[in-house]
Amino acid sequence: RPAPLWLFGDQLGPHFHSTPENRDREVLLIRSAAAFARRPYHRQKIHLVEAGIRRLAADLGDRARIIDAPTYSEGLRRFRRPVVVHEPGSHAAEALVRRLRGRGLVVDVLPTPGFVLSKQVFSSWAANRRRFLMEDFYRDQRRRFGVLLEPDGGPVGGKWNFDHENRRPPPGRSTLPVPAPYLPTEDDVDEQVRADLDRAVRDGEIHPVGVDGPRRFAVSQAEAEQALSRFLDHRLATFGPHQDAMLSADWAMSHALLSVPLNLGLLDPVDVIRQAEQRYRSGAAPLASVEGFVRQILGWREWVWHLYWHRGPDYLKNNELRAHQKLPRWWRELDADSVEAACLRTALAGVRDRGYAHHIERLMVLGNHALQRGYDPAELTGWFATAFVDGFPWVMPANVIGMSQYADGGVVATKPYAAGGAYLNRMSDHCGGCAFNPRKRVGHDACPFTAGYWAFLDRNAHRLRGNPRMRQPLEGLRRLADLPDVVARESRRDRF
Ligand code: FAD
Repeated sequence: RPAPLWLFGDQLGPHFHSTPENRDREVLLIRSAAAFARRPYHRQKIHLVEAGIRRLAADLGDRARIIDAPTYSEGLRRFRRPVVVHEPGSHAAEALVRRLRGRGLVVDVLPTPGFVLSKQVFSSWAANRRRFLMEDFYRDQRRRFGVLLEPDGGPVGGKWNFDHENRRPPPGRSTLPVPAPYLPTEDDVDEQVRADLDRAVRDGEIHPVGVDGPRRFAVSQAEAEQALSRFLDHRLATFGPHQDAMLSADWAMSHALLSVPLNLGLLDPVDVIRQAEQRYRSGAAPLASVEGFVRQILGWREWVWHLYWHRGPDYLKNNELRAHQKLPRWWRELDADSVEAACLRTALAGVRDRGYAHHIERLMVLGNHALQRGYDPAELTGWFATAFVDGFPWVMPANVIGMSQYADGGVVATKPYAAGGAYLNRMSDHCGGCAFNPRKRVGHDACPFTAGYWAFLDRNAHRLRGNPRMRQPLEGLRRLADLPDVVARESRRDRF
């Protein structure tokens, strides 16, 4: 008999367990009590992973075995048979697998099907490369896997990137006129998970943040397929144009809401991309939307994964802007009600209520605030990894350290994603009813993002001077007559 397959909680789909190579293997799932005990994970995140493991065990029936153990090593010891495993998703898990292999408990490590490109091919792509841009990587991915190409090898529609068509401000209405996203129906498994988590909280075994809520994301193969079809058939066509916009009354807008099933390993990214392309080929969705979506999965998601391995664990120590502020308590505890700035309150409430905020809320509201206030990038990375339902170790460094906090000094982002209230006012409907005025940088109603922007530039001017993309903002800073006043007030600000 082939060696059993040990699956981590983010390897739950058929492209892991039911390939020709694996379908005859027994499947081992270990629920480690330590996994969620150490840090304050969002309650709904723990629920999703727990429900996903239990659903898979139920779907596989006799083929699967769940072992509860204090640690993975102990679980494997109790299982008593050597296993094979797919490449795991974190440096810590990789080191663990290496140790277990040394002890003979793991006999083989198979490549991960959770991403399209293998680590080996990325390494040769990256070797000796001086220009390190996601856009170059993405175009090579399209060529390599033949996605959205003309027969002559060029991009369909004559362009690789339709980003400029996807940056529209919000329409003049409170919600986007798009069909609702897929929402799962809870069942007995959810009920058991909820009862078990209630008990674990009561007994002090876990200390989650966020509210419990109806489960909003897919945790089984059947649900993931439904979530994907719902998106492709009803929402892909409108994905794109308002991707960068924010509406207070519309948390989902036209976003895919697929990061959970993708990151739990329920959806095969190759299949997701092929199906999206097919919607363009059949005329069901316009090219700008399909290309925009493909870029997220075949470009960004893959880029972020490979940078995690390529840059190694020390990347997390980057702190180019010397930001050392501890995260305030209201932030860590997701106390959105104590926040006055409407954009920040809405994004933080989304995290509290759903463990989710869409990309622009993460980057231009939460990340932007943290950047302006000088929050410690490593602590912030830990926060994003635990407070979001789709947070996993590999996805954080490039997104938080690199893109959102500019802590790597420009490897991932060519300039800091810092923006004032004018940007937020243009791209959202938040400012109208807000206690602060996006045009004001001093006074009791000065917008914390507008004033925070100038204070951030002032604090970091000497570090950003060499960046050509910062020349214009730094010139603006020099012309600001009231700068000393702004900086002094912002250093004392206690209302956000
Ligand atoms: P959509 O906006 O509809 O995009 C479709 C898919 O593309 C996503 O499901 C995701 O799988 C992929 N994708 C797009 N951009 C990225 C990216 N930059 N990195 C990885 N995948 C991407 N994504 C996570 O999956 N988990 C996280 O914990 C996470 N934290 C983030 C933190 C910060 C500060 C920032 C700036 C981005 C983060 N992202 C994270 C990336 C992105 O914001 C989310 O993938 C996206 O918001 C998930 O919602 P969606 O499925 O509706 O995605």
